Amino acid sequence: MTEVPGDSYDLVIIGAGPTGLFAAYYAGFRGLSMAVVDSLPEPGGQVTAMYPEKMIYDVGGFAEVRGRDLVEGLVKQAAPWNPKYLLGRKAEKLETVGDKVELTLDGGETLKAGAVLITAGIGEFTPRPLPAGDGWLGRGMVHFVPALAAHAGQHVVVVGGGDSAFDWILALHPVAASVTLVHRRAKFRAAESIVRQARELGVRIITDAEVTQFIEAEDGALEAVTVAMKGAEDERLPANAVVAALGFTADLGPIESWGLEIDHRAIAVDSTMATARERVYAAGDVAAYPGKVKLIATGFGEAATAVNNIAVALDPDAHLFPGHSSNAE
Ligand SMILES: Cc1cc2nc3c(=O)[nH]c(=O)nc-3n(C[C@H](O)[C@H](O)[C@H](O)COP(=O)(O)OP(=O)(O)OC[C@H]3O[C@@H](n4cnc5c(N)ncnc54)[C@H](O)[C@@H]3O)c2cc1C
Repeated sequence: MTEVPGDSYDLVIIGAGPTGLFAAYYAGFRGLSMAVVDSLPEPGGQVTAMYPEKMIYDVGGFAEVRGRDLVEGLVKQAAPWNPKYLLGRKAEKLETVGDKVELTLDGGETLKAGAVLITAGIGEFTPRPLPAGDGWLGRGMVHFVPALAAHAGQHVVVVGGGDSAFDWILALHPVAASVTLVHRRAKFRAAESIVRQARELGVRIITDAEVTQFIEAEDGALEAVTVAMKGAEDERLPANAVVAALGFTADLGPIESWGLEIDHRAIAVDSTMATARERVYAAGDVAAYPGKVKLIATGFGEAATAVNNIAVALDPDAHLFPGHSSNAE
């Protein structure tokens, strides 16, 4: 397959979750040039957004692997093939022009491709907002923590009461100067064991309370937050960072209007992972067929099937079987 310059690729992959990242590796292995688009600012999909610190026990070859390490491994595995990552960019529109597919991103940029592989998982994530943090995203407030080191020595306030909020607490506790959890209810949605772990670490947990104000230092950085507590005086907490872990909503959004066969927020595919549209394939959580099991392991297999079939669709003289990677230089 030929190297295509600029905004034109053999394959554009929509979604940099585990399936899309593994597809990027496979596309490189098949000699395809590729771009990977994701609306999140970091690769890793659900793993990065929701459980980077959790151990995963059902990925082949790993007795256990931390979510964050799995994503790092996937990015490293694809790196030799130089995928062009377009992160923080949403795929909006898909058109077929001649024998090419044209994908328009938010902002209007168009990518041309021989084929598109949709690995959009459960869709685009939209974090549930923390109203007091309006205008603070990226200036002190984050919805998830891609790199713990960014919070070394900081006072961090985590807002939320689910598994992710507690995951962040446990992960940040060893590196941050202080970690405080603020939750607006008395009860948590998180697993009891993880709540116990946080308590045993001595993390301050404030319940029946809400962060109501972000306080700016003279240099514009976040300095503190105001916490309103039921039946008590407001408290000012030092805060260099607020992790708003209030959960995400997920939505296939524009993909639903691309003329694909969609059922229960998933795209129907055949055994080659082809969709109802020519040159458009799907794999991972977003792909549906009878007997589908939504797991990382399944997504890896589907990525390999999709990309090898795409290689043949793009070049009918190519072999479907890629050869064994163990024979590659
Ligand atoms: C808490 C939790 C624990 C889990 N534990 C396990 C486990 O132990 N083992 C296991 O196998 N599975 C587990 N899963 C499921 C696993 O995470 C998913 O099966 C896997 O992430 C699917 O990968 P994917 O790449 O297909 O999709 P996703 O990980 O959902 O990635 C899809 C990506 O596509 C992007 N996207 C969507 N629409 C667009 C668009 N229009 N434009 C640009 N980008 C877009 C999204 O931003 C996202 O990054 C767990 C899930 C959760 C929530």
